[in-house]
Amino acid sequence: MRDMTMVIGANLANGAGNLPLTPLTPEQELATRVRLSQALQMSLDPAEVLNLFYKHIQAAVSVSGVLFKSAAQNADVKIGRECMHHCDYRLTTDEGYLGEIIFSRSKRFSENELITLEFLLSSLIYPLRNALRYQSAMRLALLDPLTMLGNRAALDSALRRELQLAERHQSDLSLLMIDADFFKRINDDYGHHRGDLMLCAIAKGIESVCRGSDIIFRYGGEEFVVLLGKTNLDGAKIIAERIRQHIEQTHISHNGKVIGTTVSIGIATRQPGKKEHINDLFDRADAALYQAKANGRNCVVSNNDLLVAQ
Ligand code: GH3
Ligand code: MG
Ligand code: MG
Repeated sequence: MRDMTMVIGANLANGAGNLPLTPLTPEQELATRVRLSQALQMSLDPAEVLNLFYKHIQAAVSVSGVLFKSAAQNADVKIGRECMHHCDYRLTTDEGYLGEIIFSRSKRFSENELITLEFLLSSLIYPLRNALRYQSAMRLALLDPLTMLGNRAALDSALRRELQLAERHQSDLSLLMIDADFFKRINDDYGHHRGDLMLCAIAKGIESVCRGSDIIFRYGGEEFVVLLGKTNLDGAKIIAERIRQHIEQTHISHNGKVIGTTVSIGIATRQPGKKEHINDLFDRADAALYQAKANGRNCVVSNNDLLVAQ
């Protein structure tokens, strides 16, 4: 594997850092670089940047497939078709490792083509780094740093999307609003740090009993929301009860003492045939949660239970 390292502030004597001299004429070199650089600035989506790179290099070096294995988790990008002959590069800036890029095609790469490819790669590194940075900043902006669950902003956009999908396909959708009971006492008795650890234990507990398709968020301080796609009231009640029981048995320790908590859960389900705003679902789940607190906490109440009681 070859190393492609671009260092900010390095002496770029031939316009391509410490790369070998290119076989292109200076005019071709400049024109290619300008075209490519302009194209790569069109997007801050790493997959799109790589796609643009793939398209623009074809005139100089024909490539069948590109695979980018990102240093970040779950960010690999695959373009085109993988073939027998490969050439691999480690992409690094002075700030660290970006990932590995693998070009492939059915015909061997000649030495001149590799030189051209390396020359073109030098135009990719910074646009790709910027796109990866932007992507990770966007991800972090949607994450709760304590529990690493989605935050309220992530919930709003996910709920909007799930509601649209459910309306389009006339499918079920349920929302669980979960609130830890008497959580203030945990902070008062054991300190804020133990409170934080308990919140993490609650988040892990909810994750461990939910299905892969359920989406979990930290809505606020000691409040969590779970979106259950394609799930009706009966299914939602089963999952809510499973969460309640699991949290009841979840404990953390403090100076030899065991600390536990319970949760109250309000359920709201989408009303078939009605066009609903995300706030409608929230308000109904909130009303059900309020009732669960009033019923003595550590229990599950659905919005439908409230309607029956009225
Ligand atoms: P209830 O059963 O009525 O929900 O009682 P509660 O004490 O849980 O509710 P209340 O709204 O009175 O208090 C919520 C508490 O949650 C107060 C606050 O200290 C705690 N809390 C909120 N966010 C955090 C956090 O990020 N970390 C810690 N440790 N505690 C938090
Ligand atoms: Mg609360
Ligand atoms: Mg609470």
